[in-house]
This record gives sequence, C-alpha cells and structure tokens, in this order.
Amino acid sequence: MSERIETALIHGAIREGYADKKGAVNVPMYLSSTFHQESIDEFGEYDYARSGNPTRAALEKAIAELEGGERGFAFATGMAAVSACFMILSAGDHIVITEDVYGGSYRFVTKVLPRFGITHTFVDFTDVDAVRAAVRPETKLIYMETPSNPTLGITDIRAIVEIARETGALTFLDNTFMTPLHQRPLELGVDVVIHSATKFLSGHSDIVAGLVVTKDAELGDRIYFVQNSFGSVLGVQDSYTLIQNMKTTAVRFNEETRVAERIAKFLEVHPLVEKVYYPGLASHPGHDIHASQSTSNGAVLSFSLPSYSVAKAFVSAMKIPVFAVSLGGVESILSYPAKMSHAAMEPEERAKRGITDGLLRFSVGLENEDDLLEDFAQALKAAAEVATV
Ligand SMILES: *Cc1c(COP(=O)(O)O)cnc(C)c1O
Repeated sequence: MSERIETALIHGAIREGYADKKGAVNVPMYLSSTFHQESIDEFGEYDYARSGNPTRAALEKAIAELEGGERGFAFATGMAAVSACFMILSAGDHIVITEDVYGGSYRFVTKVLPRFGITHTFVDFTDVDAVRAAVRPETKLIYMETPSNPTLGITDIRAIVEIARETGALTFLDNTFMTPLHQRPLELGVDVVIHSATKFLSGHSDIVAGLVVTKDAELGDRIYFVQNSFGSVLGVQDSYTLIQNMKTTAVRFNEETRVAERIAKFLEVHPLVEKVYYPGLASHPGHDIHASQSTSNGAVLSFSLPSYSVAKAFVSAMKIPVFAVSLGGVESILSYPAKMSHAAMEPEERAKRGITDGLLRFSVGLENEDDLLEDFAQALKAAAEVATV
C-alpha cells in the first residue's frame, strides 16, 4: 500500500523512533552528545551527536520520505540549510539564481560566496529564456524559489529543470512556501529541496530550523560532509519539537489556505488595495503554471497600498495579527517586507522586485476567519482616511 502524505507526516518519524524497540509513540529525545562503543573494534551506529543523533535522524529520515528523496538533513536554521547546500560548490563555479530570492539567501550569495570565488547572476525566473541565456559553461547550479517571497512569483519548475539537464547544472529549490504536502520538486526533476522549517512545518512560531532533501545518495554524501564540517545541526530538543509539529502540518496548512483564498478575493476588489499577489487569483502571473506543479495556493499573500503612510496607518489599525517577520504560524503574521525580510536588500533592488513602500505581506493563521476579515475591513477603513488627507 502506498501511503498518502498526511499519513506519512504523522507516522514517518515515529517509525524511526520505534527502532529502539521500546515502543514509545513519540520519538524519544536522545540528549546525548556522545555514544558508548562496545569495544575497540566494534563501533555502533552513532558516535558523536554532531555527526548523528537518533532523534535528529528520525526527523531526517521522515523529511526524506515526505519529499520522496534519498537523504534528509536537519539544520539549526533555514539559512544554515541554504548555506550548507551552496557550500557544496567550489571556487570558479557560477550560480544562476532567481532575483526574488529570500533576503537571507540573497545576502549569502552576494556577500559571502564571492569571497570564495563563487559568482552569480540574478535572473527574473518567470522568463525561462532569460534563465537559459544566463547559463555559462561554469554554471554549476540553478537556484529556484517558488512561490517566491514576498510577491509570490512563480517559476516553471519543469522548464528550469530542462535547462539544467541540457547544461549539466544542478537544481536546488526552496520549497518553504508549499511544504512537501503541496509541491514535490524532486518528482519534477529537481536535485535538492530546501525548507525553512521555521515556517509552516513547525508552524507555531516556536523554533528556527532548516531541512534539506537530496534526490540521490551521492549528493546526500556531499551535503552530509558540509553539515558535519560546519556543525550547524538542529539540536535534539528542537528536532523533537519539529517532529511533533509536523504531524499537524496538513490540517493547519489546508485550513490557513482556505482562509487565505477568501482574504485574497476580499482584497482584490477593495478600492484602497492597488495590487494583490496570490497564486490562487486567476489574475496572478503564473497562476496556471503554479496549478500545474502544486496542489495548493498557499497561506501567504501580499498586497500593496498606495503609500508608506497608508501602509503605516493600516498596520497600526490591525488588531489580530502579530506584526513581525516570519510566516507560517498558527497566529496570523503581518509583515512589512521593505523594512523586515528584505531590509538586507539595496533599495533599488527592492524596487525592481515590486517591494514598494506600500507593500505588506500576510501569513494567514488559524484564527476565526470572520474575525480576520472584519479586522481587514476596519483597518483598511482607517487607512483610507490617511489616503484622502
Ligand atoms: C525564512 C526563510 C528562509 C530562512 O530560514 P530561517 O529559518 O529564518 O533561517 C529561507 N527561505 C525562505 C523562503 C524563508 O521564508
């Protein structure tokens, strides 16, 4: 019987936890940095917790199974996961990367990698020909993020994989916004999938964590070497928390998405809102491509108000959401990309990506949907007063 992903989310890690034969339904926390060895010539599966720990291993096996990959890895943060993946490259290698990549990934690629002789070209990944044109003989990696942050740009995963196959480059994809539940990049030919598990997979704004899954064992060995060398592993207690929280990803994500669709439609016709960015709207660029490679529209949307002062009035009038960076929590999170997630980006780069002074991002939580819609309505009304001054 092939099991569906909702079932695997609940049982994947537990099955590994049973491996110690004691039958605990929750994976035990092996709070042990080192492991006893039987004799001078008989070493067990684990020796030192940076290299491997049974709690973390249960999580790593579970995420590999969920993404349909060969090997899984858990990192201290999403950025530890992203940077570890980039570190399998070497001096002289070139990266073609989507221009609306996550702010922290942008910083790593532009400020850290050049010091090691690894160069990059940013491209608008909605333009497949532009991606093909940017590939050079030394291009070793094509890096995608779809839907992207914060304007929910859509990349045609199959088309980019095709370019990578023609040119011999690897493909990485940041799957944070969709989770393995709704977008399965390895099945579309991508080599490495990356998650900030801080977001929907953990889902409670409690821990920071990153996950990586490789399609094959050889790439897995290369990522493992970096993980063990850099040592940015996910701790045992956070691994436990993530295993527990991942069990409810399906119910959380699907409910948050249902409400996000309602909010997007409400905003789309509101006179004060200039533009709504949400893959579920028929008007959204790449809507059809997204529908062909993903089974959900997701629980994050962005929208632009006419100016900085209108956005400011809106934020101060909203009562329910947390006003903060991050997304994917059970509490709705409102954020202001220009000064939060994309503060590390130069103003002219932000402008190119549509990250205007009036742009806000909303991650839908599990509050009552009518409460959320009423909150939007009253805050937009308050903001409209500023707009007409
Ligand atoms: C948050 C995020 C990251 C970075 O993850 P951290 O856990 O904050 O280090 C990477 N990619 C995307 C799309 C994100 O939203």
